[in-house]
Amino acid sequence: MKALRWHGKKDIRCDTVPDPQIEQPRDAIVKVSSCAICGSDLHLFDGFMPGMEPGDIVGHEFMGEVVEVGKGNSALKVGERVVVPFTIICGECEQCKRGYFSVCERSNRNRDAADKLFGHTSAGLFGYTHLTGGYAGGQAEYVRVPFADKTHVKIPEGLSDEQVLFLGDIFPTGWQAAMQCDIETTDTVAIWGAGPVGQMAIRSAVLLGAKQVISIDCVPERLAMARAGGAVTIDFEEESVLERLNDLTRGKGPEKCIDAVGMESHATRSIDSIYDRAKQAVMLETDRPHVLRDDLCVPSCRHAVGAGCLWRTHRQDSIRRIDEQGTDLAQGANARQPLDR
Ligand SMILES: [Zn+2]
Ligand SMILES: [Zn+2]
Repeated sequence: MKALRWHGKKDIRCDTVPDPQIEQPRDAIVKVSSCAICGSDLHLFDGFMPGMEPGDIVGHEFMGEVVEVGKGNSALKVGERVVVPFTIICGECEQCKRGYFSVCERSNRNRDAADKLFGHTSAGLFGYTHLTGGYAGGQAEYVRVPFADKTHVKIPEGLSDEQVLFLGDIFPTGWQAAMQCDIETTDTVAIWGAGPVGQMAIRSAVLLGAKQVISIDCVPERLAMARAGGAVTIDFEEESVLERLNDLTRGKGPEKCIDAVGMESHATRSIDSIYDRAKQAVMLETDRPHVLRDDLCVPSCRHAVGAGCLWRTHRQDSIRRIDEQGTDLAQGANARQPLDR
C-alpha cells in the first residue's frame, strides 16, 4: 500500500509499504477513504516532537471502511464506515471507566518511556511518535486499528466523508473548548487563532448560542472562513487586538476567551511574542503564552480555556448535530488531494 512516512525533519515521503495485518483479537483493518493533516503533524514535520523514527507512518485524523475484523471484535462488521479518533482506547481501564479516555492506561504500549518523560502517559495515539505507542498512522491506504471495538465512531448512512471526517480530532477539540466556556446567550466569545481548531471553536460557540464570536488571526483566507462561520474578525497585523475587543464590547471585553493558537503559528511583532519564540527555538517551552497574556489583559475575561480533546465524551452529541440538525463541518475543509501529491 501507499503511505506517508516520516524520514526526518521536513522530510515526509509517499512510500510503498506492506499492508497492515490483524495482530490482536480486538483489532480491525480500515481502508482509508479520507484523512486530514493536523496542526500537530507540523510538530513532527518541524522536529518539535521527540520519539519519531525514520519510516514511521504519520496521520491521526482518518476514516474509512472496515475491511477485516479480529476474532475478539464483535462491535464492528466488514463494510461498516467509521471515523477513527486519534486516541486509542481500551474502554476497560480505570481512566477509560471514568471517561478520561485521552489517558487510557492500556493503549500506549510504550508507556514506560512516556511516564519517564511526561510524568504520566497519554493514551496510545496513531502516527504520533514512539512515546505514544509507535502506532502506524492513517495517512495511508490501510490502517490497523488496535482496540477497534472501542476506538471508532460509526457513521450513519447518508453522511459524506467531509461532513464527518473532522469528528476524529479537530471538531471535538474546538467543541470541548467552547463547552468548557459555559457559554451563555449574553456572552461575547473571543477566539485566538483561526486555523482548523479555531474554525471549529467558532462554529461551536455559535451553535452554543454566543451573542457575538470574535476571531483573531492574520491570514486573510482564515479570516474569511471565520466570517463565513459567523464570527467578527480582527486582523492582528492591521489593528490592536485589545482596542478592537474593547470597541466590540463597549469597553467591557469579551466574557469568554479561547486559545486555539498552534505551536508553529506566526508570532506577532510584540516584544513578549519574540521572547516566546526565542525560548521555543532553544526548546525551553512547548507553547506560546502570548495569547494567555492577551486574555488576561481583557477586562472582563476571567474564563479563558485552551482547546483540548476528549472526543469520546462529545461524539454522540456531535453526530446528532451533524445528522439531525445539519451542522456543516465541511466548511472547515479547504483542499482535497490524493495521498501521493
Ligand atoms: Zn490532530
Ligand atoms: Zn483504557
